[in-house]
Amino acid sequence: MAQRVRDLRAGGRRVISLLLGEPDFPVPEAIQEAAIRAIREGVAPYPPVPGLAPLREAIASHYTRYYGTPVSPHQVVVSNGSKQAIYNALLCLLEPSDEVIIPVPYWVSYLPLVHLAQGCPVLVPTRQENHYRLTPDQLARSITPRTRALILNSPSNPTGTTYSREDYAALIEVLRNHPRIWIIADEIYDLLVYEGRAVSFLEFVELQERTIVCNGFSKAFAMPGWRLGYLIAPPDIAEAAIKVQGQTTAGANIAQKAAIAGLTGDIEALIAPMRKAFQERRDAIYQYLTTHHPELHPYKPQGAFYFFLSVEAYLGRKTTLQTADDMVDYLLEHGLALVPGTGFGMPTHIRLSYAVALSEIEAGLSLLTRALHALA
Ligand code: PLP
Repeated sequence: MAQRVRDLRAGGRRVISLLLGEPDFPVPEAIQEAAIRAIREGVAPYPPVPGLAPLREAIASHYTRYYGTPVSPHQVVVSNGSKQAIYNALLCLLEPSDEVIIPVPYWVSYLPLVHLAQGCPVLVPTRQENHYRLTPDQLARSITPRTRALILNSPSNPTGTTYSREDYAALIEVLRNHPRIWIIADEIYDLLVYEGRAVSFLEFVELQERTIVCNGFSKAFAMPGWRLGYLIAPPDIAEAAIKVQGQTTAGANIAQKAAIAGLTGDIEALIAPMRKAFQERRDAIYQYLTTHHPELHPYKPQGAFYFFLSVEAYLGRKTTLQTADDMVDYLLEHGLALVPGTGFGMPTHIRLSYAVALSEIEAGLSLLTRALHALA
């Protein structure tokens, strides 16, 4: 989609793009300065495979402080993005044909990553009425003797749903009876929650021995292009992840030095302005959609920066559009770029990102209304 937008724009078309999964904010000044200082040191040796010691310490003490759960630097492995951290985790855990439970809708890369690690994804559709969260019953029914892992993503891409402490506790009731199952908790949007704060799966001491948290700097620190993420795991899995990474990409790049500045400074001061802007946009979009498009069943995200909207009312017999992909093509003809839900496991939905200036969002919403009215 991004390429199609670029092509259209190159041909002189005006296109409003609400596609992207990256913040439209600059990298915080303190992080930029630290990066420049690191470059001016003038030497660039191979970094240690698990990450620079001060960064592993900073990550461990950030989680310890923020979530009140002790994390040691030896549990931390820094990677080239949290996507690599998730892949490392899967490569460490899975034997061929091991099953991995993935609630639907899911972040697009989980499925291919499980396939690459020779696992079998077990997809479990969630419902908007249940806030797109996996229920304990659904979890219990999806478990087989081959289940090896469960991937949870809170706050979620694409829905923005955020599991509460009670939601996690209810899932743990089920997991308690299945000691073979690991939890991969993708917490990359944890600092972008709009009311209250996120709960980390690491807060549940009982399951810490089989929890791998994946997180990174692409979202809350607005550093997607710097490719920096990490996992936090029990020491033996961390050791295994270091071995895997040592033979693939080895240690992450020089941006690690900048990330230390991000984590050891006043994190709240760095992130609060961006989070406030996202919250204002979320509220404006939700207000607009509930007023003008109740048929899209807008779900109010509690975190991250996406709306996931049902276009089912416009598909099928009444129009020529059969799937969300058709809808996205149709909207693009009207100058609005959105992502079809197909890649997230729901071909009846579209994703709208609000990591874009409010003026663009407003223009995009008007285009959406015009295009949908033309269909009706
Ligand atoms: N997990 C989720 C839910 C995401 O949305 C993304 C990026 O869009 C990632 C992981 C990967 O992030 P990174 O840039 O750290 O590889």
